[in-house]
Amino acid sequence: MADQNANSISVQKWAEIFAAALEKQDAASASALFAEAGAWRDVLAFTWTIKTFEGRNDINDLLVAKLADTEPRNWTVEAEPDAYEGWLHFQTRFGSCKGYVRLQNGQALTLFTALQDLHGHEAPIGKRRASGLYDDDDTRNWLDRRQEEQASLGQDQQPYVLVVGGGQGGLALAARLKVNGIPTLIVDRHDRSGDQWRSRYKSLTLHDPVWYDHMPYIPFPENWPIYTPKDKLGDFLEAYAKIMDLNIWNGTEFTAASYDDAQKNWNVTVERDGEPMNLRPTHIVMAVGNAGFPRKPDFQGASDFVGEQYHSSEYTSGEEFFGKRVVVIGANNSAHDICADLVSHGVKPTMIQRSSTLVLRGSTNSKMARPLYSEEAVEQGLTTERADFLNASMPMRMSEQLQKQIWAQVAESDADFYASLTKAGFKLDFGEDGTGLFMKYLRTASGYYIDVGAAAMVADGRIALKSGVGVDRLTETSLIMGDGSEIPADVIIYATGFGSMEQWVERLISPEVADKIGPCWGYGSGTAGDPGPWEGEIRNMWKPTAQAGLWFHGGNLQQSRFYSRYLALQLKARFENLNITG
Ligand SMILES: Cc1cc2nc3c(=O)[nH]c(=O)nc-3n(C[C@H](O)[C@H](O)[C@H](O)COP(=O)(O)OP(=O)(O)OC[C@H]3O[C@@H](n4cnc5c(N)ncnc54)[C@H](O)[C@@H]3O)c2cc1C
Repeated sequence: MADQNANSISVQKWAEIFAAALEKQDAASASALFAEAGAWRDVLAFTWTIKTFEGRNDINDLLVAKLADTEPRNWTVEAEPDAYEGWLHFQTRFGSCKGYVRLQNGQALTLFTALQDLHGHEAPIGKRRASGLYDDDDTRNWLDRRQEEQASLGQDQQPYVLVVGGGQGGLALAARLKVNGIPTLIVDRHDRSGDQWRSRYKSLTLHDPVWYDHMPYIPFPENWPIYTPKDKLGDFLEAYAKIMDLNIWNGTEFTAASYDDAQKNWNVTVERDGEPMNLRPTHIVMAVGNAGFPRKPDFQGASDFVGEQYHSSEYTSGEEFFGKRVVVIGANNSAHDICADLVSHGVKPTMIQRSSTLVLRGSTNSKMARPLYSEEAVEQGLTTERADFLNASMPMRMSEQLQKQIWAQVAESDADFYASLTKAGFKLDFGEDGTGLFMKYLRTASGYYIDVGAAAMVADGRIALKSGVGVDRLTETSLIMGDGSEIPADVIIYATGFGSMEQWVERLISPEVADKIGPCWGYGSGTAGDPGPWEGEIRNMWKPTAQAGLWFHGGNLQQSRFYSRYLALQLKARFENLNITG
């Protein structure tokens, strides 16, 4: 970008001109400061939603619609004097905001803006933290007050927000809401926080490195392993819930809800320790995860099969399968992890790969994430918060282009690794348009394996592979494949993925509400599993939906950390009855 910017204006100068145009409410002059193909991604600062505006015309429309209401002002720049990209700080009528701009030839190629805090309702953290002393005459100490809060929420006091699901997503969001003073209750069907991770297969560790995974407010300690073992994460989450004073009803299933248009709140039924109870929250956040709804094919002859059949979510360890012929259907993360676990227990599993898989070596994954999430980044003073902001600052269409270039390099640098898999008959892809893992994740959250050891086992035959063909039917003792071949089996494990969040809505709220909302996830890339139209943002996640009072939260640990902040701000604005125009 440096060459393209030769003799061009710096961020400092650009921001000065941009701020002056905004001050004058001059949308035309402000949008002319963007490149023809420039994009502006906004998280709440101007739009009260999460939206990307592409091209000068859309940017102009945004400004015409929102400038008067937003009143942006007090712009300052944090960048080297002659830099062509840098940080922006500004205020709006609603709160303080931050931005990041990249210039090309004196025009903005990308601008990212996000609300950080609401005026008069700033989060009590850092310099604004509570003293811990009570200045009333009340003799109740912290413990008394905490116990009273726990006893009353959901009983004499209704929660303003009900978070359904206390996995890492629900906990992160509830922590943000707690800090923001919003009465929040989490319900989770598990008996203990962290059980969702504990219940997964024994050999599981996080596939993302520690620098990517921190929870809000309480980062992992400095000696934390790079790849967190699942039970350790479960224990951390349980401790997190306690330290952050979260209100959780464990052993509680959310079973039904309907929206009361007149009262503007929800009529919710939960079963707490088996007893039905009614709750009346103003908002529901579905944080039920995208891995809770096991998806299993219904093969002809499945009921005739005399062996054992499990979904991957029911698999715990290969220990019990020693001496058995195990077939694993699927070739993504879970299938690989399970096959590797079986191998380590002396089993030679067969993996069935119907269609191609994107594989990325764990070490390459860490290298790719290195500029933002690594020990080196930490040593250079890049905080997790700043890394997240930079990560979010690239609009989706440009991310696709960037990822294409990155994946061409990965294919080249790891050519021997990929050749060894191809030689074993494994079908590989880098996404149907070559945009790789990150975009696949945002499109369908499936179709990939981050290699933590199983790829070598496929390559050297410790994991047998049947590729390019699906299962036709089952017999009493085998699988008959689409090409007529037969694979004898004692055990079949379906690593065939999970249903979507909207299926939860259909089941727990109503098919009408699910229809009204549409898909949750994908950004309309027009690729398999993520049909258009182009949205350029993940559908329905962390922002207002077509159903009043219904929100969705989730994603991986990084997304959950980042977006929980903005979902909490949206709920806070509503809790404080701010006059927002979303
Ligand atoms: C094998 C495997 C490996 C993974 N590895 C990684 C990884 O390395 N890094 C990463 O970031 N992500 C990973 N993921 C994705 C992972 O699912 C998510 O990151 C994470 O679990 C999502 O958190 P969540 O809170 O949104 O959902 P979950 O952790 O799935 O939590 C949802 C919670 O909702 C509760 N719930 C659901 N329905 C109800 C109901 N009706 N009533 C009450 N409670 C309900 C469940 O009990 C559960 O506790 C992995 C997933 C799997 C399956």
